[in-house]
Amino acid sequence: MTEQIKYDYIVIGGGSGGIASANRAAMRGAKVLLVEGKALGGTCVNVGCVPKKVMWQASHVLEAIRMESQGYGIYPQVENFDFAKLVENREKYIEFLHGAYQRGLDSNKVDVIRGYAQFVDKHVISVDKKEYYGENILIATGGRPAKLAIPGGEYAKDSNDFFALTQLPQQVLVLGAGYIAAELAGVMHGLGSQVTWAYRKERPLRQFDQEIIQALVDIYQKRGIETRANHVPKAIEKIGEQYQVLFENGQVITTDYVLFAGGRLPNVENLGLEHTDVRLDERGYIAVDKYQQTTAKGIYAVGDVIGKVELTPVAIAAGRRLSERLFNNQTNAHLDYHNIPTVIFTHPPIATIGYSQEAAIEKYGEEQIKVYRSTFTPMHYALSEYREKSVMKLICLGEEEKIIGLHGIGVGVDEMLQGFAVAIKMGATKADFDQTVAIHPTGAEEFVTMK
Ligand code: FAD
Ligand code: NDP
Repeated sequence: MTEQIKYDYIVIGGGSGGIASANRAAMRGAKVLLVEGKALGGTCVNVGCVPKKVMWQASHVLEAIRMESQGYGIYPQVENFDFAKLVENREKYIEFLHGAYQRGLDSNKVDVIRGYAQFVDKHVISVDKKEYYGENILIATGGRPAKLAIPGGEYAKDSNDFFALTQLPQQVLVLGAGYIAAELAGVMHGLGSQVTWAYRKERPLRQFDQEIIQALVDIYQKRGIETRANHVPKAIEKIGEQYQVLFENGQVITTDYVLFAGGRLPNVENLGLEHTDVRLDERGYIAVDKYQQTTAKGIYAVGDVIGKVELTPVAIAAGRRLSERLFNNQTNAHLDYHNIPTVIFTHPPIATIGYSQEAAIEKYGEEQIKVYRSTFTPMHYALSEYREKSVMKLICLGEEEKIIGLHGIGVGVDEMLQGFAVAIKMGATKADFDQTVAIHPTGAEEFVTMK
């Protein structure tokens, strides 16, 4: 039998959930091994939140110059927007983050090895033919972009490919209707591409409040993004240097670059799960209970691989709570997956927590729900020729008017949401919001002054 090094906790996957859980376990005294196949930081740091936010910010700077500066008497010239330099600087920042994560793990004395882990037995994994025994093992292997399963689908690029670009395509067709499609359509448009965004149904981002999403579609159109509803992609053909995308409705769009963002799939293959009692759910994600416990004793899973709420802070929070439960006697520690705030980094951003108006009415009935809303042009645009409305909404339940949903689109809502999320998590009512003195002049004050 191969000699096995023994650990209290083995973490497979050095992304958001894995690193957070490994560090917390080690801080509580466990002997921890972290195994990562690619780069530390996982999706978020390398091909997700971090490079996305940098590109979002770059796009915002360019748009502010183009659309807002002149009203303030500022006439800058964007003579040489160097996309390759932006990408180079972004990657340097990511390199810096790799070092920071490594130092954090080192200071907590987490052993880190590079390579792909596979279960060879219920408590044993193998990495590059070496075996390691874990009393407890966490699967935090994340996910990857789904492929577009149509003829010629291989011509469509995904978000990983987008982050590998060193030249900005002139024309872009974005296919898909979720976070990534919405965000990258806005980013590429802001950076200077001519963007068409085609989605399958009447509206994109269908799980969110419809009024807010309609506002996004209207704003994108006003900014110059062409949106195409009810466009189901059927086939892609390469014609010379371009791509021709055929849709089921007979429409054809020719473009330089096709980006498909139609969801993500869990990394569960090649993990040797057949050597364990870990079961997948009907969608192919690792099945866990509320304590992140899989169907196998001593094996847990957090993050995108469980397909619950695919956000970095969710993976981190679940991973940390798990370690507190396993190694710090917090026997009931677990993540409450309700009322998770989230921001879609569109231009402008969307911030949302809790029930959409539609979901609240469906759950509680129309007579139980009162909706407060405000539509206004923020002072941000006071002097600029370009103007754009913000929309904010509160969804309230019953006589007490407990706030069960808060949604906004507009300048700055991304930074507003965190504090409101605390209030909503604590069970705030409309009366509590009314009691709070506004901060003027801000956009946020609208949330506490709605009539
Ligand atoms: P990951 O971060 O994906 O980490 C999994 C790690 O496991 C990877 O590093 C992988 O290499 C490794 N691995 C896989 N298999 C093995 C194996 N067998 N052995 C060893 N290692 C293995 N979330 C937000 O909250 N805010 C955002 O703004 C945001 N923007 C995003 C933008 C994009 C384009 C994308 C794609 C995602 C974005 N997300 C965002 C989602 C966020 O990135 C994920 O929810 C988060 O990274 C999930 O963390 P995780 O630990 O579950 O998995
Ligand atoms: P999403 O799950 O958000 O959305 C994908 C949507 O694309 C589907 O809901 C579907 O919408 C549409 N779609 C699916 N298949 C096809 C197809 N064949 N052709 C055309 N459209 C299709 O996936 P994303 O890839 O955008 O993002 C994955 C996850 O990553 C997000 O859910 C989010 O959790 C996370 N993320 C978070 C971010 C943030 O926090 N800001 C940013 C980016 C990602 P429909 O049925 O309406 O057509």
